[in-house]
Amino acid sequence: MKLVDTHAHLDLLKDANGAFLRAQEAGVGQIVTIGIDLDSSRLAAQYSRDMRGVFCTVGLHPHDASKSRPELWAEMKLLALTTPAVAIGECGLDFYRDHSPRHQQRDTFMQHVDLALDLGLPLVIHDRDAHEEVLRILQDKGAERVGGVMHCFSGNLDLAQELVKMGFFLGITGVITYKQAKELRAVVKQISLNKLLIETDCPYLSPVPFRGKPNEPAYVVHTNQALAKALGLPPEEVAAATTDNARRLFGLPYIDA
Ligand SMILES: [Zn+2]
Repeated sequence: MKLVDTHAHLDLLKDANGAFLRAQEAGVGQIVTIGIDLDSSRLAAQYSRDMRGVFCTVGLHPHDASKSRPELWAEMKLLALTTPAVAIGECGLDFYRDHSPRHQQRDTFMQHVDLALDLGLPLVIHDRDAHEEVLRILQDKGAERVGGVMHCFSGNLDLAQELVKMGFFLGITGVITYKQAKELRAVVKQISLNKLLIETDCPYLSPVPFRGKPNEPAYVVHTNQALAKALGLPPEEVAAATTDNARRLFGLPYIDA
């Protein structure tokens, strides 16, 4: 099986090199590692240069929106262009934790959308308890021109359909393996398989049977299995489709492993 982990935080893992090797052994041949601030984006860029099959994004997580400065955006843009990055983010709104003031979260999210439109790159979006506002900003800015992924999708069927209509993908994490994720399993059944991506969000959100332990890209295999079960399809078919989706969205090369 050839899988893509479309949302990893390699810079937050204790042993990124070991995790990279275990991913390869597990058939996870491509990994998108996500920047959450300037330092993390620089590290992500470094991983993408050092590790074959690793690609990076640059962005400022909504938790850190208060760190936004005008000069930071020039550096982000340069980093995205020169590396090159495959997407802009992780960006969005988090009204659950509210680690940064909401007005700064909104400004910073809009700045990401502008940068993505400027560079013609898709968006990696984080949305927690802010579904309507995230959707409104994407619509107001015309973000469907670049598209992207709603990472760790946690909304209802209406939101899922709205996003798909705008050309966005839904990122499915290990949460789909959790007993209580009934709504998510019901939602994915109503969405076309060619709009779904799988991701770990490692080191967070380990799928069953690793729940509670640090997550890593190799475990996306379990998310693929749970998604296949929810859809009533063979895991190989879901793996092939989600890999193809990831390559289409992020422009990843077609490789055999
Ligand atoms: Zn993340």
